[in-house]
Amino acid sequence: MKTIMNFSMTEKQKMIQRITREFSEEFIVPIAEESDKNSQLDIKILNLMKKMNFFGLCIPKEFGGAGLHDDTVSFCIIVEEIAKIDASYALTPGVHCSVVARPIYIYGTEEQRRKFLIPLVKGDKIGAFALTEANAGSDVASIETNAVIDGDEWVLNGNKIFITNGGIAKTIIVLAKTGEKGKRKFHTLFIVDADTPGFSVGVKEDKLGVRASNTTELVFQDMRIPHENILGEVGNGLKIALEILNFGRIIVAAQCVGLGQGAMESAIKYANEREQFGSNIGRFQGIQWRIADMGCAVESARLLTQKAAHMCDNNMDYSLMASMAKLVASEVAMKVAHDAVQIHGGYGLMKAYPVERYFRDAKMAEIYEGTSEIQRMVIAKQLLKKFV
Ligand SMILES: Cc1cc2nc3c(=O)[nH]c(=O)nc-3n(C[C@H](O)[C@H](O)[C@H](O)COP(=O)(O)OP(=O)(O)OC[C@H]3O[C@@H](n4cnc5c(N)ncnc54)[C@H](O)[C@@H]3O)c2cc1C
Repeated sequence: MKTIMNFSMTEKQKMIQRITREFSEEFIVPIAEESDKNSQLDIKILNLMKKMNFFGLCIPKEFGGAGLHDDTVSFCIIVEEIAKIDASYALTPGVHCSVVARPIYIYGTEEQRRKFLIPLVKGDKIGAFALTEANAGSDVASIETNAVIDGDEWVLNGNKIFITNGGIAKTIIVLAKTGEKGKRKFHTLFIVDADTPGFSVGVKEDKLGVRASNTTELVFQDMRIPHENILGEVGNGLKIALEILNFGRIIVAAQCVGLGQGAMESAIKYANEREQFGSNIGRFQGIQWRIADMGCAVESARLLTQKAAHMCDNNMDYSLMASMAKLVASEVAMKVAHDAVQIHGGYGLMKAYPVERYFRDAKMAEIYEGTSEIQRMVIAKQLLKKFV
């Protein structure tokens, strides 16, 4: 009997995986530790990533992209392979492509696509997506950044915090409040060019993990934004922002699968080498059970992630699956990184082994693009509606 589910990678996907793996091992492995120590992305790697078209992954070839706009599964494979070595280097193009370039391609006008997409795809301009504020994190609707219309321009004022790529971005999608009626607030998304007067980069965060990834505050002071830079329509910014996050969650999940896989492989290698009581520690059942659990967890997270990607590519409603994938994969990454450190014993706390970095990097994913608590809320809400 023929089955209708296909868990195999296509030849093209296998090639994409092999090329990204070779790239990551050759170029990212040697600088990962230094980038983490200096809290700085290596410009040489970003330039190489440009050549690999990693900044145009989910954009059609007609705009110079890699043409994976309908192949999110391959996008995930690429992100996974980079994150297996270093989550910061996966996060940079991951955010740029999934929550900046893609939304401009999907929701942008022809003029916005022509103006903003091509430099983004080439990696000549890096993108950032700015929602979070000091008093508005999970509760995005309570943002205070606001834009007021003045002729055919909008005047933007406010502060955003914790913005990935903030200090290196030249094209930023910003959510602002553009009106209020009683208790109801209206929000709009703006495409902001960082060269516009009134823009500045504030504090660069000194983080626990994903230290090389650039995370900053952004300040908008009386910035004049042309009306044609509105992404979508006036008043529907929050709705689009949430749709953007839905897709972004699949890519965060792929990062977590990669990180989990990397941590697990490091632990297995160590368990095969480290000797105690006259034998490799991998021969002890206590270690074996941990490794078995790691393998099951990473594979489960990968399946959920690829299912969400597959649903997206087939125009199915993937929001529930994206939240499930993000929730499970981020918690798997954290648990597997924890177990990988445990298998390394004291050496797991030392910079000489990458599991120390994996452990710190894993924490990020349980928080950004919607915390685990928010994912559980989203999932429960949908399930409660589904089975009335
Ligand atoms: C490394 C990093 C990169 C980031 N990148 C970006 C970016 O590029 N763009 C951007 O806009 N933001 C970014 N963020 C911000 C991130 O999205 C927020 O930190 C996140 O949404 C949580 O908001 P908060 O930090 O204000 O926490 P809060 O919302 O204050 O939450 C605090 C705690 O309360 C819990 N909580 C809140 N509400 C509820 C509830 N209703 N029920 C149960 N528990 C609840 C939360 O889950 C959390 O545990 C980034 C954050 C980090 C750490």
